[in-house]
Amino acid sequence: MLVKLRGWAEELGFSQIGVAGVDLAAAEPGLTEWLAAAYHGTMGYMARHGSKRSRPAELVPGTLSVITARMDYLPRALDEGWQAMEWQRLAAPGAAAVSLYARGRDYHKVLRARLQALADRLAGEIGPFGHRVFTDSAPVLEVELAARSGLGWRGKHTLALSREGGSMFFLGELFVDLEFPPTAAAEAHCGSCKACIEVCPTRAIVAPYRLDARRCISYLTIEHEGPMPIEFRAALGNRIYGCDDCQLVCPWNKYARRATLPDFDERVGLGQATLLQLWAWNEAEFLRRTEGSAIRRIGYQRWQRNLAVALGNALRETGDAAICDALGSRREAASAVVQEHIDWALTQNPERSPLA
Ligand code: SF4
Ligand code: SF4
Repeated sequence: MLVKLRGWAEELGFSQIGVAGVDLAAAEPGLTEWLAAAYHGTMGYMARHGSKRSRPAELVPGTLSVITARMDYLPRALDEGWQAMEWQRLAAPGAAAVSLYARGRDYHKVLRARLQALADRLAGEIGPFGHRVFTDSAPVLEVELAARSGLGWRGKHTLALSREGGSMFFLGELFVDLEFPPTAAAEAHCGSCKACIEVCPTRAIVAPYRLDARRCISYLTIEHEGPMPIEFRAALGNRIYGCDDCQLVCPWNKYARRATLPDFDERVGLGQATLLQLWAWNEAEFLRRTEGSAIRRIGYQRWQRNLAVALGNALRETGDAAICDALGSRREAASAVVQEHIDWALTQNPERSPLA
């Protein structure tokens, strides 16, 4: 049956599938420790599900196996040497850096639909069965399941990492009330490398395999509500949605693969946009241009907050008067939180700041 499942999964755009059992007890102490250290920040939903996170059969009663799947997401048109291009973008103060995974269609929708299609194919073969689909879902220990089922080991940056596909892939799971033999676990291949730990702009990887989400730019730009902590504003650079640094530096990502689906192709020029172009979007334009994209989930206020921080960083580097003008032009209509970020941004170049 696994051979058939693999064939269907490939047709549906998945790069690999595996099977994990439901006993994740060995992962419980690490999870409890991570939560106790408050490394999850304000992501209260991470703690809310308690032991259900490490016990799939408690989360979805009747679950006997978990079918795990990974899907490569690099945009199909991405050039060779894409890592170098991403580093160049990060070094260009006026450019906008959006995580590679978020430049196309919302992966939650794509993966959910494809995992459901996989379940439907299986049901067509063996008859109805109980199942539930998850992707990037808080109650599920995705990386643990991926590692146990052989999709990839947990890298020191805490993401799943594969010898065949690096780490630029999404994960999804199908909890099923069917008993499948588990596939072999992945072996770890980080060795003595610590490039991801060293490159992290905010020192968020506090130890190998341990991420303090409160310091991570992905968390800060996407999950974190309210003001951006002052101590991290400069380190954000021009990253306005997510951060890829720890993956860009990872030697295994020379094996990262392009998506087979068109869904993750770049939309609305997000791979080339400048900060000023994106700052010019009003709320209606933001909603229109991010329709069907994961970026829409953060809402216009967080989008503007992130852009204001990045523009402040660009202003510090370039002293460009056009940045001051653009920031000032949106101040009056902005929310109090965004106004505070605009004011902070303007003070990054005191000579040119109207506040000076
Ligand atoms: S995503 Fe960025 S901020 Fe977060 S751990 Fe990786 S390099 Fe650090
Ligand atoms: S950069 Fe090095 S240590 Fe970090 S995940 Fe990749 S191989 Fe592992």
